[in-house]
Amino acid sequence: MDNSLIIIGGGLAGSEAAWQAANRHVKVRLYEMRPDKLTEAHRTGLLGELVCSNSLRSNDPQSAPGLLKKELSMAGSLIMEAAVAATVPAGSALAVDRDVFAGYITRRIAEHPEIEVVREEVKELPDGITVLATGPLTSEAMTRCLSGIVGSDYLYFYDAIAPIVDAATIDYEKVYRMSRYGKGGDDYINCPMTKEDYERFYSALTEADRVTPREFEENRVFEGCMPIEVMAARGVDTPRFGPMKPVGLPDPKTGRDPYAVVQLRAENRALTAYNLVGFQTRLKWPEQKKVFGMIPGLEHAEFLRYGSLHRNTFINAPLVLNRDLSLKQKKTLFIAGQVSGVEGYIESTAMGLLAGINAAARIRGLQGAEVPPASAHGALIRHLTETEIKHFQPSNINFGLFPVPEAAAKIRDKRARRALIVAKALEDWRRYVGLREEG
Ligand SMILES: Cc1cc2nc3c(=O)[nH]c(=O)nc-3n(C[C@H](O)[C@H](O)[C@H](O)COP(=O)(O)OP(=O)(O)OC[C@H]3O[C@@H](n4cnc5c(N)ncnc54)[C@H](O)[C@@H]3O)c2cc1C
Repeated sequence: MDNSLIIIGGGLAGSEAAWQAANRHVKVRLYEMRPDKLTEAHRTGLLGELVCSNSLRSNDPQSAPGLLKKELSMAGSLIMEAAVAATVPAGSALAVDRDVFAGYITRRIAEHPEIEVVREEVKELPDGITVLATGPLTSEAMTRCLSGIVGSDYLYFYDAIAPIVDAATIDYEKVYRMSRYGKGGDDYINCPMTKEDYERFYSALTEADRVTPREFEENRVFEGCMPIEVMAARGVDTPRFGPMKPVGLPDPKTGRDPYAVVQLRAENRALTAYNLVGFQTRLKWPEQKKVFGMIPGLEHAEFLRYGSLHRNTFINAPLVLNRDLSLKQKKTLFIAGQVSGVEGYIESTAMGLLAGINAAARIRGLQGAEVPPASAHGALIRHLTETEIKHFQPSNINFGLFPVPEAAAKIRDKRARRALIVAKALEDWRRYVGLREEG
């Protein structure tokens, strides 16, 4: 057996992983099944093809996606190099010409002396050190392999994401902390609704614009993760018997159960972000802001992440993944990209970068450096490895995932607080990038 690193999938994560490993003098064999076999969303044989939007989101370094991109660039990311080469005007966002972008990645990978590209579907997992980066539309054969390792109960095919709000932007005058029937202390924040509140909210919810599912995405929804608007369409009281059930949650101001309630559950241990329990949705983003902004207490809430529901292949990361992105059940197998449980182009790229670095270190017999928890990359790793297993859903990068530095905790001004988080992230990431260069 030779000492090559096998990478399966030449999308964003696989291309980035190949680039990082090859630049550490590790021979890479990168398998990509396109163009012979396309996924339901890809159209070309180009590596790093973007399947939908051409935007890599905000370029503002004081925003969470901007910070993640900055860290990627500092680490010599190929995907970021391609994005800069393919930029099109898009205000404060980084958007690209998709053909120039994917063409650039394909050419740079093909020219790299340490990388061999093999155009073939991989149907069985190889024995050697491997990075799996087959994306949300992983081929059936590879899905079977992966489910054989992690167990079919811990590999999912749809994500059902509820919106998340910034804890500092909730109006605490209007909400109260309580668990249903007092079981579980003050874990939940409850947003109580009167009958009039509920009726206004209900009609806005049922009239709001939705994202149309793609052809290959079944319109079928699972009872356990039904979008809130689909539930509402079943009848005016259906949400009140579902996630908006008020029983056992008496409002301390009245001593009575409200007419309906929206419960918010902590998204992290620092309690800086809360998700709207049971509010997975296909509403368009501006509609989510408008409709969910009608919930008492959330009138001025900042949405760190909007809800969504779409076809996706991902593992229950907190249960099966180590911090270096290798699998607990098979330490020679690293998981990168969307399959690892992150959401989005740059987040997938980031998990490709780390998997490439860590797999290369393993092949070279080096101890990989710990990713700094305060960095944007570290925030994603924390999400993958420390989220409560029962509630795990993929996430894109947002400030709710970051630890708040002690000095920032006391600052009320949001911009000033975030500036400290960003400064700490960059300081630690700079050290990490320097560390690995010495490694
Ligand atoms: C329809 C859709 C639209 C999306 N739109 C957006 C968006 O607008 N913005 C955003 O930020 N994110 C979006 N995402 C989410 C995600 O960011 C992208 O899917 C992203 O491309 C994931 O990167 P990846 O490297 O993990 O997977 P991919 O980029 O999909 O790469 C996986 C690669 O593996 C190959 N492959 C699969 N199985 C095998 C196999 N067995 N052998 C060899 N090769 C294989 C595939 O052909 C593919 O090239 C979308 C996802 C989907 C499904």
